[in-house]
Amino acid sequence: MKRRLFVTTALPYANGSFHIGHIMEYIQADIWVRFQRMRGHEVHFVCADDAHGAPIMLKAESEGITPDALVGRIAAERPRYLDGFHISFDNWHSTHSAENVELSQDIYRKLKSAGLIAEKTIEQFFDPVKGMFLPDRYIKGECPKCGAKDQYGDSCESCGAVYAPTELRNPYSTLSGATPVLRQSEHFFFRLSDPRCVEFLRQWTQDGKLQPEVANKTREWLEGDQGLGDWDISRDEPYFGIPIPDAPGKYFYVWLDAPVGYLASLKNHFAKGQAAALTTQDFDQFVSDPQVEQYHFIGKDIIYFHTLFWPAMLHFSGRKAPNNVFVHGFITVSGEKMSKSRGTGISPLRYLDIGMNPEWMRYYIAAKLNARVEDVDFNPDDFVARVNSDLVGKYVNIASRSASFLARFFDGELLDVRELPSWREFDEPGHSEEIARCLESREFGRALRMAMEFADRINQHFDAQKPWELAKDPASRARLHEVCSACIAGFHALTVWLKPILPMLAAQAETFLSCTQPLTWDDLGRPPRRIARYEHLMTRVDPKMLDALFEPPAPSAPAAPPAGAGKAGAAKSASNPAQATDTGSEGEGLIQIGDFAKVDLRIAKIVAAEAVEGSDKLLRLTLDCGEPQPRNVFAGIKSAYSPESLVGKSTVMVANLAPRKMKFGVSEGMVLAASFDDPSRGTGIFLLSPDYGAAPGMKVK
Ligand SMILES: [Zn+2]
Repeated sequence: MKRRLFVTTALPYANGSFHIGHIMEYIQADIWVRFQRMRGHEVHFVCADDAHGAPIMLKAESEGITPDALVGRIAAERPRYLDGFHISFDNWHSTHSAENVELSQDIYRKLKSAGLIAEKTIEQFFDPVKGMFLPDRYIKGECPKCGAKDQYGDSCESCGAVYAPTELRNPYSTLSGATPVLRQSEHFFFRLSDPRCVEFLRQWTQDGKLQPEVANKTREWLEGDQGLGDWDISRDEPYFGIPIPDAPGKYFYVWLDAPVGYLASLKNHFAKGQAAALTTQDFDQFVSDPQVEQYHFIGKDIIYFHTLFWPAMLHFSGRKAPNNVFVHGFITVSGEKMSKSRGTGISPLRYLDIGMNPEWMRYYIAAKLNARVEDVDFNPDDFVARVNSDLVGKYVNIASRSASFLARFFDGELLDVRELPSWREFDEPGHSEEIARCLESREFGRALRMAMEFADRINQHFDAQKPWELAKDPASRARLHEVCSACIAGFHALTVWLKPILPMLAAQAETFLSCTQPLTWDDLGRPPRRIARYEHLMTRVDPKMLDALFEPPAPSAPAAPPAGAGKAGAAKSASNPAQATDTGSEGEGLIQIGDFAKVDLRIAKIVAAEAVEGSDKLLRLTLDCGEPQPRNVFAGIKSAYSPESLVGKSTVMVANLAPRKMKFGVSEGMVLAASFDDPSRGTGIFLLSPDYGAAPGMKVK
């Protein structure tokens, strides 16, 4: 059955650029949305700038521009980020819009006629110089408990005391320095304490749809001693916001009209579609349709607004409450909470500017996400490992290693794998649907683990069947065709599963797989029948890029250095200690003889050498080093030596190097070769040879 979905992300406040936390949320929602579209569902995915409120008004004033101009400037930079990370919103709008004024005022009027708006007189600090009431964050003074100076209006950073701004001693306005005066004002309140609201919210929050942590949180708020308080929804002029009907000088508090911006953006989206004759969808009919499902992706800091205020606002204004809110945690970097001042955050634009692939980030974020309200940690070493060994080493590798045989021997034609017994081993019924269930329930990390286990099986099949040997024997042609067809069918299935996460890579893969239409979930039952020429699909992460990502940008340098443009030494972030810099040449870097003795160098004789399928650098060497069993060592010397020229030669190997598992097998040592680090001084690789007479197993010291 075709579902109809209305999906949003939280509206970002329009006083600053996106940070990596925004991008993480957009990636999470975008993956879910792209998955729904691939399943054939109708999705409307929208967002908007949250444009109103005192901070934007005051920031614009401090820059000498209008709030409109400030919001416009921020809005203009949004597409660079959204396009850069392949976020597929159908519409991006603003809460400072005609649609939002109309919808916010309409909702307010209906709440009022339902008897849920109260007027109360409150006493609040007023800045007599600025001529405005002061939000708490714009008042400072001395702590009433310990006397510490310059404390904010709600709590003391020195002794931790919590108090009301009116309790501060010698308070002053941070806007003008003036001493604020207490002044009374009429405010409007949304009566959440009304038994109808409490009853409705108990039902809406406790019917099992919310994540367990979120449901528990809302239960605490609903059933706590205080109960639900009424919510102050008005602000006095001057204020950048939406006027409250029939109340001159009063504006909606920004948090009243912000979530209404979800509806405003959807309405604007439909209006644009109608104007372009792309849709006849009526907004009011759509949002009131019980079949339409409405979901909001949000961070854990705004649960209160989205599980209490927002559903109640909608319900008691005669609208449909959301079907659910999907709450995620924050992003941390190497275990530390992101902080602009400490500079440990990842700048999304810097990420793009230094040439890092946005799909690496999408893959990494997806691998870390689940359906719980957990923080996601960005760990640079983990990032490199997951992208290089899983995404490139497992998934992309399948296509590259199978394609050459199919092109060379079978003109790119594939067997219909549905008739092959070997394919049935991989194509476990239910595997795809289990991955679909994971994507549907936002268990993205689990979906990727399942996909990568499948990729492992395909790669193992390839290794076990040794197509490079089958290719040598014309009698094995049919078997070679089967093996490579099955591997490409596996790559095809993986591409379908990964497409919501890696849309651009999937588009390239679709060309390679000769797809006539973009892949959908239904294509899982239709394995490919031919491939086009294999073009390189994705490069590995160069770990140096992570250094560049975390370096503080030089204040005077307009552009970031290109990736890998050199080591930055001391400027490197402490979060990235793994890549130590070279030691200097004079004085530093000396070792003791005991250090050298730790390296067990032995004479080794090369008894066999062969090229490694899928690698343009490596040769596989079989070494006799005087032990009962020969050793298997991979050496990056393919550019300098043909395998045949090496057989029979003796060389020097590091015999006590820890075995290293590579994608081609385990390397049990290292052979020594000479080269310049600086290619301008000369290229070429020269394997070391002992003088005549040295025998395998002799120690080099
Ligand atoms: Zn204090």
